[in-house]
Amino acid sequence: MSRKLIRCMRCGKRCRSEAALDTRNAVWIAGQVIGSLCPTCQTPQENAEAAVREAIGETETYRVTRAENDPHEYIRSLMKTYPTPEVMRHKAAELAAARSDEPTANLVGLMQALAADMEPM
Ligand SMILES: [Zn+2]
Repeated sequence: MSRKLIRCMRCGKRCRSEAALDTRNAVWIAGQVIGSLCPTCQTPQENAEAAVREAIGETETYRVTRAENDPHEYIRSLMKTYPTPEVMRHKAAELAAARSDEPTANLVGLMQALAADMEPM
């Protein structure tokens, strides 16, 4: 994992401890790391959820990224992970706010298009 991600998203403090680099503290959206939380800021609930995901070997990221080579499967994974237009839009906005590189911009566009498709007619 990249070293530049060790600034905590919540308090903005740089954390030099290896714990902050643990994937358990990373915040993921659609297979992209958007930042990480220092152990102090991570709520007990977030911590518990991360532990459960880790234990069953099923992370949100894993679900999305393993389908990366198949665009249809990738879209299905995104829709399974973010099942409502509201969640999809919210995650797209968070991702757009966190990263501005071109692949991310493409992904954000895809998620916004999917959210529009998911709206009931
Ligand atoms: Zn923090």
